[in-house]
Order: sequence, then C-alpha cells, then structure tokens
Amino acid sequence: MLREETNPLPDRTIAEQIAANYRQVQSQVHQACREAGRVPSDVKVIGVSKYVDAAMTQLLVDAGCSDLGENRPQVLWQKAESLRLPSEFRWHMIGHVQTNKLRRLLRFRPLIHSIDSERLLRAIDAEASQQETIAEGLVEINVSGEDAKTGIDPDEARRLFETLNRDGDQLHSVRIGGLMAMAGWKTTPEEAGKQFRMLATLRDELEQTYSLALPELSMGMTSDFREAIAAGATMVRIGSALFPPEIRKPH
Ligand SMILES: *Cc1c(COP(=O)(O)O)cnc(C)c1O
Repeated sequence: MLREETNPLPDRTIAEQIAANYRQVQSQVHQACREAGRVPSDVKVIGVSKYVDAAMTQLLVDAGCSDLGENRPQVLWQKAESLRLPSEFRWHMIGHVQTNKLRRLLRFRPLIHSIDSERLLRAIDAEASQQETIAEGLVEINVSGEDAKTGIDPDEARRLFETLNRDGDQLHSVRIGGLMAMAGWKTTPEEAGKQFRMLATLRDELEQTYSLALPELSMGMTSDFREAIAAGATMVRIGSALFPPEIRKPH
C-alpha cells in the first residue's frame, strides 16, 4: 500500500508516538501552569491536527485529546464526518472563515477562534439563529502589528465592542467568550510574552469598559505556550509538538 511505502514506521508505533507526544505536551503544560502559579485545569490543550490526515488525527483522539483545532473549514467538517469522537469532544476553528462556509461548519458546533470582522460575527449570529443554536467564538486580535498577520488591530476591536455595546441586544445567537492571538512571525519567546500580556490587558480593558465577561484567552503554540500560560492563556493551540515532521503524512 502507498501508505506503508511513504511511512517508515508501522501504524502501531505511530500511535504510540502520538500518545507519548500528547502526554509530554500535557505534562509540559502542567509544569508551565505550576511555574505560573496556576492550576492545570485552567488551561486546555487544543491539538492542532491540520498537519495530518483523518487517520492520524484519530490516533490523537484515541490518545485522549478531546479538543481538535483545524484552520480550514472544509477539512474540519470532512474529519468531523469521518472520525470516531467521544461525547465530550469539541472542535476548534482556528483559521479564517468565509461566510459561505458557515452553514456546514456550524453544524459541528465548533468554538470559532478566528472572528476577525463585524461582518463575520453577524453572519455567524444569523446562521446560528437559523440552526436554532448559540454559536461561540473568540475575537482574533493582531497583537504583533504585522500586516500579514490575521486578526483585527486592538483599536478595531475596541470599535467592534463599542458597536456591539451600542447596538444592545442585536446578537442573540452568538456568544463571545474571549480573545485569541498569535505571536508575530519568528518573534523571540520574550517578545511573544509581551504580545500575550498585551492581549490579556486588552481583554481586561474590554471587560471593564463594557461590563463583559471574556474569560477565554486562546494564545500560545508549540514554541511559545509557556509564555502564553504565564500571561494568562486558557487555551493553547499545539500542533508541531504532537505531529513532528517525521510522522506527518502527505495528504
Ligand atoms: C498551525 C497553528 C497552530 C499550531 O502551531 P504549532 O506551532 O504547530 O504548534 C496554532 N494556531 C494556529 C492559528 C495555527 O494556524
């Protein structure tokens, strides 16, 4: 089979390796929590499965990961339709979402980390209302100031929350649970930490200004989750540490 030819390790060994990687990430996250004076249950590890196919993604779920992140809606729903998932499982949409993908995406009740415009927020609200559900999401903030980065600038975020506050109860079917950000490209861990603290400060400001609860901070990836946890992350999005290049399969 093609799969065996392209894959130097037998599947059982791969399953063991993914399970070992998952345990190691969990223990590193717990360690980072202790060092930050936080309790491990405060921080959820989201396994970012965008690097691998459905079969490999299943191995991570079987290893105990009950939160998966994908950056493309089509891949999320294809995997959602083919994987065996535990009942307390949750999908996380961590990449840009086009409004024409919402109908199919929302059926899987993902947490949408990447709300990056008022237009998308209103489209999510409308579609969730159609589906008679409450969608949940985070507003993605560009904390690095890089043009190429996704998310909205802090000032745009302030305007967005101002608009929502002014418009009162217009959004009935979407709930914003917090903020999400990625550190800039090739930033040092120190610089990433600074950007994460900026996100936490913005969250505090928005909570106070608009009397909101924004408990979730989705920040930190393989290279900077320790800094993110120190800055108050409640979700870290980890891909590379779980699926190092040697166990990634071509799609
Ligand atoms: C790919 C990706 C991740 C995971 O990054 P790693 O460095 O591989 O852990 C996290 N968040 C987003 C938005 C991603 O696209």
